[in-house]
Amino acid sequence: MKFGGTSVADLDRIENAARRVAREAEAGNEVAVVVSAMAGVTNQLVSYVDQTSRIYDAREYDAVVSSGEQVTAGLMALRLQEMGISARSWQGWQIPIRTNEVHGKARIEEIPADNLDDRLSQGEVAIVAGFQGISPRNRIATLGRGGSDTTAVALAAALNADRCDIYTDVDGVYTTDPRIVPRARKIEKISHEEMLEMASLGAKVLQTRCVELAMNHGVRLQVLSSFEDLPGTLVVDEDEIVEQQVVSGIAYSRDEAKITLIRVADKPGIAAAIFGPLSDAAVNVDMIVQSVSPDGERTDMTFTVTKTDLDRAVETLKAHADEIEYDQLLADANVVKVSVIGVGMRSHTGVAQTMFQTLSDKGINIQVISTSEIKISTLISEDYTELAIRALHTAYGLDAE
Ligand code: ASP
Ligand code: MG
Repeated sequence: MKFGGTSVADLDRIENAARRVAREAEAGNEVAVVVSAMAGVTNQLVSYVDQTSRIYDAREYDAVVSSGEQVTAGLMALRLQEMGISARSWQGWQIPIRTNEVHGKARIEEIPADNLDDRLSQGEVAIVAGFQGISPRNRIATLGRGGSDTTAVALAAALNADRCDIYTDVDGVYTTDPRIVPRARKIEKISHEEMLEMASLGAKVLQTRCVELAMNHGVRLQVLSSFEDLPGTLVVDEDEIVEQQVVSGIAYSRDEAKITLIRVADKPGIAAAIFGPLSDAAVNVDMIVQSVSPDGERTDMTFTVTKTDLDRAVETLKAHADEIEYDQLLADANVVKVSVIGVGMRSHTGVAQTMFQTLSDKGINIQVISTSEIKISTLISEDYTELAIRALHTAYGLDAE
């Protein structure tokens, strides 16, 4: 069971979460709990560091910001003890959760879970501080913001858990953002692969890295609310899903910007000349389209980068204008990427056509298209975000009755 920051935001909420833990333990389950810092605490700690040291020692940053989870873990253990449940807190190093040395953004390398496992089988509930581990040099290392989800999934894998329940402030994964489409439905079951696409294409319920980890280790996830007693969304292996929808969900990302290079030379090495310097400048490139060149000499190249990378990308391309040889550089931040996702696409035809026709019926121009086996993404003007998502949601039969 993993409880995020809003689910443990104050003592009452910690008590509420502890009651859920107690219920599982009393039902005869062995329970390991991963907790986040109380809502707002990590931000506060980060700001203390920023105010103390402008270019800080990342190991000390980790020493400071990892402390929020330690507080919650201790409080949760105390609360459970008050309820008559045997429980103790565990910090990352006590298990140990071994990470690499990339402080502030460490990856978990291994979790020898024998100690923890022994205690669990003795009926003791484990409350594990999320977001932290220990580096090869015995320093506390944090996993990057939002990293407690990753702790939970990694621990579930190490313990061979039946399930990893992620308790949060929403009650599941929806077919699309309910703020845009009020008739969006809660998804009962979704495959890891689809969830991974949803997460990386803009749905913010779960971190991409945590879903990836769950997929690689076959961890069954459930996303559910800590405030309501409702079943959430199960994220499971594709084989477990009997009634597969063709399209499971629609995701969108406003964090895209489009760059077009007009009339670049059409010769070997030109893509490398464009994307090499961008990669050196740590610009993340997403969709790429190169058109055919009518004269065999010159062609246009369009691609997208994240909005925050746009200025750096444009500067980089200008600095390398001599090697790339282009006539003109156009940049447009007023775009959104809308994607439809579903493993059913592998076996059904016409899924892309439905998307194109629907957008065309609304008079929306598609600027860039990219596809994978289980998703189709289109880049359109940001002004049409809501219109496009609503129309697609209806077209794929996803609207709630
Ligand atoms: N407390 C950490 C953060 O706010 C980790 C987490 O909540 O997942 O980023
Ligand atoms: Mg969090």
